Amino acid sequence: MSIELPEAKILAEQMNKELRGKSIKNYHLQDIERLQRIGMMDKNTKSFNQLVDGEVEFVTSRGNVIRVKLNNGMNLILGPEYGGEIFYHKRGKTIPKKFHLKVDFSDDTALTVRLTSMGLIHVYKDSDLERSYVYRRDFNPDVLSPIDEEFTFERFSKLLADNNRMLKSVLVGKDAVVVGLSNSAFQDIIYRAGLHPKRKASELNRDEKRALYDAIRFVLQKRIRLNGKDQFYDLHGNQGGYTPAMGPNMKQQPCPTCGTPIEKLSVGGGHVYFCPKCQV
Ligand SMILES: [Zn+2]
Repeated sequence: MSIELPEAKILAEQMNKELRGKSIKNYHLQDIERLQRIGMMDKNTKSFNQLVDGEVEFVTSRGNVIRVKLNNGMNLILGPEYGGEIFYHKRGKTIPKKFHLKVDFSDDTALTVRLTSMGLIHVYKDSDLERSYVYRRDFNPDVLSPIDEEFTFERFSKLLADNNRMLKSVLVGKDAVVVGLSNSAFQDIIYRAGLHPKRKASELNRDEKRALYDAIRFVLQKRIRLNGKDQFYDLHGNQGGYTPAMGPNMKQQPCPTCGTPIEKLSVGGGHVYFCPKCQV
């Protein structure tokens, strides 16, 4: 289950509430060889020693990335973008067998992090944060976050007009004009906006831009309100309640609006499900 902006925000807010002020007593890493080989975790695990004795100052998120800031100048950067589980464990609770990182706090509570697909678990000093690719990408104040007040229709509309690329690369990935959207949210959003996955941003008329803007706001806000997507589990193991209107869950289904069979298209290095009649 991918962790996109809504789920990262839900987890970061819950972590901020539960972990603030807690001191890190110890940590455990397991089954990390594959993660290290492909750069998903620090090659030199001694970096994790620097977390010990640090106290959690705050936990925040932007885009798909979670930052756990400690009072000793260190940060734990979590980016379980393509799939991950982050759980909090009260004292005396059974810890799941499968995890990549377990952080033990001095009050005998614990946090476990497991990546189930591509993602990141990294440790950085405050002064080195910019070395983190995902931190640079998602905490960059020059790139709009679609849940912030600065994300106005006027600004978004201008960014679209200046972009002669397909919507996918304008909304998702390293060159996107907003942070926090992945392929999953993209399919849901353009279906609701009635736009074909291969449309170019600069060619949208004002009404289409408005529909796209409204769909982005709607999907993100509703996903946050319903505790994330329906395959997501929050910090306390509670399941999310948001079902995307379009995506792999609609494979071989009729479009709920017009009944046309849903089709699959390869766009920008990923598959996009869409309705060939409603999305033009
Ligand atoms: Zn349709």
